[in-house]
Amino acid sequence: MVPMPSIAEFSDMKKTAPVNKIIPFSNVDGPSNRMAIFFQGCPFNCRFCHNPETIRTCINCGDCVKTCPVKALSLVEGKVVWNKDICVNCDTCIKTCTHDSSPKISWMSVDELLEEVKRVSPYITGITLSGGECTLHKDFIIELFPKVKEMGLTTLLDSNGSLDFEENKAILEYCDGVMLDVKAYDREFSDWLIRYPNEVVLKNLAYLLKVNKLEEVRTIIFPERDKENSETVTYVAETIGDKCRYKIIRYRQFGVRDEQRHELGDYTTDEEYARRYVDLARSLGATKAVMV
Ligand code: SF4
Ligand code: SF4
Repeated sequence: MVPMPSIAEFSDMKKTAPVNKIIPFSNVDGPSNRMAIFFQGCPFNCRFCHNPETIRTCINCGDCVKTCPVKALSLVEGKVVWNKDICVNCDTCIKTCTHDSSPKISWMSVDELLEEVKRVSPYITGITLSGGECTLHKDFIIELFPKVKEMGLTTLLDSNGSLDFEENKAILEYCDGVMLDVKAYDREFSDWLIRYPNEVVLKNLAYLLKVNKLEEVRTIIFPERDKENSETVTYVAETIGDKCRYKIIRYRQFGVRDEQRHELGDYTTDEEYARRYVDLARSLGATKAVMV
């Protein structure tokens, strides 16, 4: 079993944050046209993760260096260095890594990230911070968001809900909303599925709703998991009612690690099966439930 990533791995990341990827224009990471910024690191270790290379920080083992076909990676004083100018983005390094990491990380300061945002600001309505789990870098975000708001842009967090927002209100001050994953209601199912307790996630659902910061909620529907799917969808639908969008997402096997894919199913959730949960959510008052 892959050991659970520790939040301590990311605890010294205040002045700079590890950025895995920036999509300058995205229309799937929140409403309208937005810049999506993906941070490295996640305290969860979901069995269905589609981008497991974002979970952990690189331990500089050097295994991927040898496999790069264009020598864009090198080991310098025990650290992996990535030359993005010659990288051809073949992702051989990511396939080589057995540590759920990537050598293609850019450590960026708030000012450096703001420069990236400024370059596209006339063409976007806002930014969405994602991951990994962006809130691992909360101090960075608290510094970044007011400056993004000054540029007239909206600010969204795409979060797994691991950070207790009530205990960390400062991160919400300049945040327009949180797109929250509620992956499991049942505690035992959560322990198995995401390998992390879910109490804080459920607390965040109620708290974000109360302070009017819940942009949307997402739940993945797994094949042949009637009880667990029903419990989670029922809980979310009864909690949010018609207050925000509820995305019911079909599990898809693409990108999921081999071992986990064999446990969860090497196939996509049937559309008709998932639609039952949209109907269930709507019947319980979640009128903005949609299937993705
Ligand atoms: S993605 Fe870039 S760094 Fe990684 S193996 Fe391919 S060329 Fe090398
Ligand atoms: S990205 Fe993975 S394989 Fe490459 S050096 Fe880091 S831990 Fe090792």
